[in-house]
Amino acid sequence: GVDEYPSMPWFGMDIGGTLCKLVYFEPKDMMQGETEEVEILKNIRKYLTKNSSYGKSGHRDTHLQMDNVQLGGVLGTIHFIRFPTSQMEKFLCLANQKGMAKLITTVCATGGGAYKFEEDFKKSVNMKLEKCDEFESLLRGLLYIDKNNPTTECYYWCNPTDEIKCAKVNYDFSQPYPFLLVNVGSGVSILAVNSPTDYSRVSGTSLGGGTFLGLCCLLTGCNTFEEAIELAAEGDHTNVDKLVKDIYGGDYVKFGLPGDLVASSFGQMNSRERRNKVSKQDLARATLVTITNNIGSIAIMCAKQRKIERVVFVGNFLRVNPIAMKLLAYAMEYWSGGQMKALFLKHEGYFGAVGCLLRIMP
Ligand code: ADP
Repeated sequence: GVDEYPSMPWFGMDIGGTLCKLVYFEPKDMMQGETEEVEILKNIRKYLTKNSSYGKSGHRDTHLQMDNVQLGGVLGTIHFIRFPTSQMEKFLCLANQKGMAKLITTVCATGGGAYKFEEDFKKSVNMKLEKCDEFESLLRGLLYIDKNNPTTECYYWCNPTDEIKCAKVNYDFSQPYPFLLVNVGSGVSILAVNSPTDYSRVSGTSLGGGTFLGLCCLLTGCNTFEEAIELAAEGDHTNVDKLVKDIYGGDYVKFGLPGDLVASSFGQMNSRERRNKVSKQDLARATLVTITNNIGSIAIMCAKQRKIERVVFVGNFLRVNPIAMKLLAYAMEYWSGGQMKALFLKHEGYFGAVGCLLRIMP
């Protein structure tokens, strides 16, 4: 029975540089009894599952919810919740209002915030953060989620450059090794994974999702990621970037460089005339293309060096961001001569938190 397990509620947390990811396991059969503890547990469950937004900035991604999953021996539903890490104080306040402090809880947490906010959790909600390694959690969460959604979790983009024919296609990820795991969060980490226990961090870059958002806010005056993506969707990066054909008048045939390839990101913006003509949308698009192509090219180098064909992109930078995914899909295929494949996962930003949730099981 449930007695062998740690006391509920069961959470896993990934407190990142930008977003805090919280996964909550809702047991199908709630504990019986009328103690204060059970009442609080029921309240927390009700609050989390009846709403899909919490306060001003908390969101539950209902489309990602997983029903009828086994955690340990318990059947239930996994819920996926996120809020900006900058709102941690408000989150703790809310958790306190819901009675969290009265429960004796340990929560496994990863991400830098597991260290940064450790004291705050203890003070505000009497919660002990059991710190888990970021990459270990990421990988454990990823393998668990894929195993539970074997036909629907992993996909790729076919015909990524054709607006009409382009589509998501499911990919069987049951034999994944070796693969490269590119986590695009605020920054970027790249892992080479040979087995569930054999992996290493092979590269990374500070030019990540945080850079895209930061530069986009500076250049366009936008304030949210969603706004930045919407602007980018309507823009044209060729008004901002200098292309091979802007320099050569066409393709650079001798070295196989197509005319439409970006030769210099933002390379047109030294001209005042060009600057006066450029729109916010163009600037947003160019920022997105610049950051995405840079990540793609680092990923390709890593994959080539290790002769890895499957490259899996995760992290919230890919959230509501088909432009970036299609660019990556195209880049991987083109620059590897069709050898490499860019793969994506539905629960893109939540694997670290799921890995932490799994850690509470003995
Ligand atoms: P971290 O753990 O570093 O916070 P995430 O995987 O959560 O990393 O990704 C954070 C990135 O995701 C941001 O830098 C931004 O590019 C993108 N992003 C997607 N959705 C949002 C959002 N609602 N708010 C802020 N950033 C978002």
